Amino acid sequence: MTDVDGPRQRVAVLGSTGSIGTSTLDVIARHPQRFEVVGLTAHQRVDELVAQCLRWRPRWAVLPDAARARAVRERLAAAGLRTEVTSGAEALCELAAAPEVDTVMAAIVGAAGLAPCLAAARAGKRLLLANKEALVVGGALFMQAVAEGGATLLPIDSEHSAIFQCLPEERRSWDARIDHLVLTASGGPFRQRDPATLATVTPDEALAHPNWVMGRKISVDSATMMNKALEVIEARWLFDLAPERVRVVIHPQSIVHSMVVCRDGSVLAQLGTPDMRVPIAYGLAFPERIESGAARLDFGALQGLSFEAPDAGRFPGLQLAWQALAGPSGSTAVLNAANEEAVAAFLAGTIGFTEIHRVNAATLEQLEPRLPVPPTLDDLLDLDRRARSLARALLTQRVPA
Ligand code: NAD
Ligand code: MG
Repeated sequence: MTDVDGPRQRVAVLGSTGSIGTSTLDVIARHPQRFEVVGLTAHQRVDELVAQCLRWRPRWAVLPDAARARAVRERLAAAGLRTEVTSGAEALCELAAAPEVDTVMAAIVGAAGLAPCLAAARAGKRLLLANKEALVVGGALFMQAVAEGGATLLPIDSEHSAIFQCLPEERRSWDARIDHLVLTASGGPFRQRDPATLATVTPDEALAHPNWVMGRKISVDSATMMNKALEVIEARWLFDLAPERVRVVIHPQSIVHSMVVCRDGSVLAQLGTPDMRVPIAYGLAFPERIESGAARLDFGALQGLSFEAPDAGRFPGLQLAWQALAGPSGSTAVLNAANEEAVAAFLAGTIGFTEIHRVNAATLEQLEPRLPVPPTLDDLLDLDRRARSLARALLTQRVPA
């Protein structure tokens, strides 16, 4: 049997040089008859982007910064490539909405990915969402854009892909059939570490995730469990469920990727080795299934699967998800902005690990957003700026030991 009949899916990978971006290209490389890469985008990794362009020969390459874009343009022209290299936030949105693009892989990290996600949603694309911060910030506006644009939104976050795979295909029956969702969390590198020592852990220790190889920001988020907080918010919007119907359990082996608890008590789960190429392949081929390159689960070799409730003392950031979801419109954008700033400061060595939560909680507490429902993109970007500036001010405040 051939891989596929008919025209190839034309894919733009936003954030192509990152962990999800490169895994996406790895899956695509296994199916040349099925997919065509038409757009690639990066932020700082110019060499990697040039190498990807030489390999994939996309029609467009986009970078936020004009000087870096010029450098890429010159190098690609010297190599005889006709790739059009553009720059700026607007250029990212143009790529995401271009008529020559069928599928957008949203793999930019952070709120910077919101505008191109909205552009893709409004243009009715098949939108593969890894960029969870975009949905945490965009919330109702994001989901409205998906509905109005007629986009097909496919979750790439492994937990949300797992839930999506367990749900009935008819979206309208979800609410009636589901009791609640259970997101699994690995617990990260500090699950068993003495909480009294967390204040002095280094960025390298926080980045050493036991099960997944990921970008730096999400790795730190996994160590604080803010990643799971963002995922609770993401699930609330993706599956349109009240926040109290989204729960979290720690599952250190990262084999069960999440679960759906049905009205009748039956529990549906999706399992697999921890490899992001599985949800990526699912999103790319949905509703079909294609080879992802991931190792198969060897049940005979499993040492067992365990589950435990998250310890609120060790992971105080987790409950900020429900707190922000209960707050006024825009609260989850405030939490996200604070966390992006705090994580960057921790990675830069400016603040300690436990300061991340202090800054997040204080920013959420002190900034009351009061945005309309749903807000506009400008409302959200303005709020994002205000929250970042408050968070940066709070970063420099030292609490007495
Ligand atoms: P990464 O840091 O490895 O890659 C981020 C990509 O975004 C890079 O290509 C970078 O060039 C680009 N980028 C960064 N800042 C940008 C900006 N301001 N403007 C434009 N482009 C910018 O991150 P990642 O681990 O691949 O994660 C990407 C997204 O996917 C995140 O939202 C993350 O939470 C989500 N996600 C990642 C994983 C994983 O396993 N890595 C799993 C689930 C969800
Ligand atoms: Mg996840």
